[in-house]
Amino acid sequence: KLYNQVQDLKGSIRVYCRVRPFLPGQSSFSSTIGSMQDDSIGINTASRHGKSLKSFSFNKVFGPSATQEEVFSDMQPLVRSVLDGYNVCIFAYGQTGSGKTFTMSGPRDITEKSQGVNYRALGDLFLLAEQRKDTFRYDIAVQMIEIYNEQVRDLLRVHFICFIFVFLNVFDTLEIRNSSQKGLSVPDASLVPVSSTYDVIDLMKLGHKNRAVGSTALNDRSSRSHSCLTVHVQGRDLTSGAVLRGCMHLVDLAGSERVDKSEVTGDRLKEAQHINKSLSALGDVIASLAHKNPHVPYRNSKLTQLLQDSLGGQAKTLMFVHISPEVDAVGETISTLKFAERVA
Ligand code: ADP
Ligand code: MG
Repeated sequence: KLYNQVQDLKGSIRVYCRVRPFLPGQSSFSSTIGSMQDDSIGINTASRHGKSLKSFSFNKVFGPSATQEEVFSDMQPLVRSVLDGYNVCIFAYGQTGSGKTFTMSGPRDITEKSQGVNYRALGDLFLLAEQRKDTFRYDIAVQMIEIYNEQVRDLLRVHFICFIFVFLNVFDTLEIRNSSQKGLSVPDASLVPVSSTYDVIDLMKLGHKNRAVGSTALNDRSSRSHSCLTVHVQGRDLTSGAVLRGCMHLVDLAGSERVDKSEVTGDRLKEAQHINKSLSALGDVIASLAHKNPHVPYRNSKLTQLLQDSLGGQAKTLMFVHISPEVDAVGETISTLKFAERVA
């Protein structure tokens, strides 16, 4: 007997958009947002031909005043379907500074109210598992990895003396396997059982600390790597003994901004090329699924290889694009919205 929380008539790929508010100290006179409805947005663009309004449609649009709670409550049925054995991917896409990390984790000085999707999703799964405890027994465990320059690193690893080696990038890149081993695509990354929101808060702290390794004040690597929190769920039906498995990937993608190839060189150029390649590989995969193409090009990036079992088939995908309201950002805003249009 499966619980059927999700009456899914819309298909398995959804695209949402969130507009970040102006930040304290910014003047809100010049916003590019010309119109906003529940499921569409119009962007003011200006060119030498004059001003125009470009319009884009979504399954859902969240404006600058949307709260973390409102955003999560819309995603709740999707999150809950993991306990019914579905695989779910939620991606935060957008240029650096558009609010991806805010949505997925929260602001830097996080409070209970400002907690993002990661915390709320796990909290909600614990709650639902508890409500179902007379009929189901659930085991929940998480992995947290980072993909930087097409290399996979474990963010939940506890470093003692190894810290220095990690700094030097010795021995710490992991392989992606074809789901053979216990359904894990990165079997060597730490898999940590969790049973309360306290466990989760501690793990997120560890993850953020490990993610900071390799970054400096001038060089914030987090905007140039993808981070992925994967929640593995195993549920056993206490009457029939049947076991079901589901997993959810919560992905904070690298910044989608184009870098000017004439201005960057060396490591920066390499990073930019890796990001570019993996975001377009992700776009290609989701677009192929959305348009029901027979061939889905999973092999073109580490990210899509990692998520292969959770993209397509019965799996559910939410592409959550983020935009900044500033006029300066209009070029990136349009390119983000075009990406969204392509995968819808
Ligand atoms: P990204 O991860 O896309 O680079 P951040 O999530 O770090 O962007 O957001 C950039 C800044 O804007 C941060 O200071 C963040 O706290 C703030 N911010 C982003 N989205 C919101 C929002 N919806 N409401 C309030 N502040 C936000
Ligand atoms: Mg970020």
